[in-house]
Amino acid sequence: MEKSSKSLRPCLDQLKPYIAGKGYTEISRKYGVPPEKIVKLGSNENPYGPSPKVLSAMQRVSPERYPEPEELITSLAEYTKCPEQMIVIGAGMDGVMDTLTRLFLDKGEKTQIYTPTFSYYEILTTLCGATPLFVPRGPRFEISTKIREEVKMVFICSPNNPTGNLTSGEDVKTILESTKSIVFLDEAYVEFAERSLLKLARKYDNLVVGRTMSKAFGLAGLRLGYAVAPEWIADQYRRAAPPFFGITCASVATGVAALSDQDYMKRSVDKILTERDRLRKETGSHPSQANFLYIETAEPSDIVGERFLQRGIIIRDCRSFRGAGDYHIRVSVGTPEENDLFLTAYREVCA
Ligand code: PMP
Repeated sequence: MEKSSKSLRPCLDQLKPYIAGKGYTEISRKYGVPPEKIVKLGSNENPYGPSPKVLSAMQRVSPERYPEPEELITSLAEYTKCPEQMIVIGAGMDGVMDTLTRLFLDKGEKTQIYTPTFSYYEILTTLCGATPLFVPRGPRFEISTKIREEVKMVFICSPNNPTGNLTSGEDVKTILESTKSIVFLDEAYVEFAERSLLKLARKYDNLVVGRTMSKAFGLAGLRLGYAVAPEWIADQYRRAAPPFFGITCASVATGVAALSDQDYMKRSVDKILTERDRLRKETGSHPSQANFLYIETAEPSDIVGERFLQRGIIIRDCRSFRGAGDYHIRVSVGTPEENDLFLTAYREVCA
């Protein structure tokens, strides 16, 4: 045992495992709440689910065949208005980032990460044997545009998880123009925001814009993500990616179906934005451009989180986000009924 554990890569010592939002099964078992009574607002999912076209597409899937990505790439190129050669796909944006970091990061190299933010950037950096440089965000969660000379990759999340704010186009351009490092702009939540910076991807050859079908399109369980990358990066991505890019027949078929019904997606986004406003007013949260709110708590967030869980409401205790401190929770915007249940509990828990 001792002998074989010595063969593990040393970078694993630095690894802090990814902490996901809690699920129905875990909470139901732990608190004895029946799953149908649980309100799940901890993982920034879309409570309206995908277009009905997705469910019928699923029934036409042939599980015995390997997936074919062509139709999906065409649909994504149309949706993003970018050439097919610039589109890369993966098992969620997580899968896309995994392949991408393996293209660029070697032992001893550095990445720049603005805290608090999505923790997978740090995990991937560490797994490549590289070192994250953490740069804290400013008082309005804005980022510094200074990139240290030795930085190989910069991660910018906009809208940022968990703070919900956008990074300005000016700041992103300043960074792109002042560095040779690869800038990964994570737009997982962009369909809920006022604007996207995707158009910059056609202009800068060091910018990759990550996107996902998990959020606005309601396909989190099917694991489908993509990125728009300059051709020189997209070409290398296709060489280094796992066979079939980690996608499945089901993710391709449902991705194509979801992209064919953008009206459905926009209607569910509109409903979420209306509720986001209501929740924000009621909780006094920070402004948000995403489908979740970042809320300050008077008491430590683990205590607050536990009280919500006892009431069958899953929210996210933000202590697991490096740099978020001990007094923030993140709450996904649910359906009006779910939000009512959250607000009732909020008044009891945070009064
Ligand atoms: N980026 C951000 C900021 C996220 O919050 C998430 C999901 N939690 C992802 C990327 C990954 O999304 P997925 O792998 O589901 O596409």
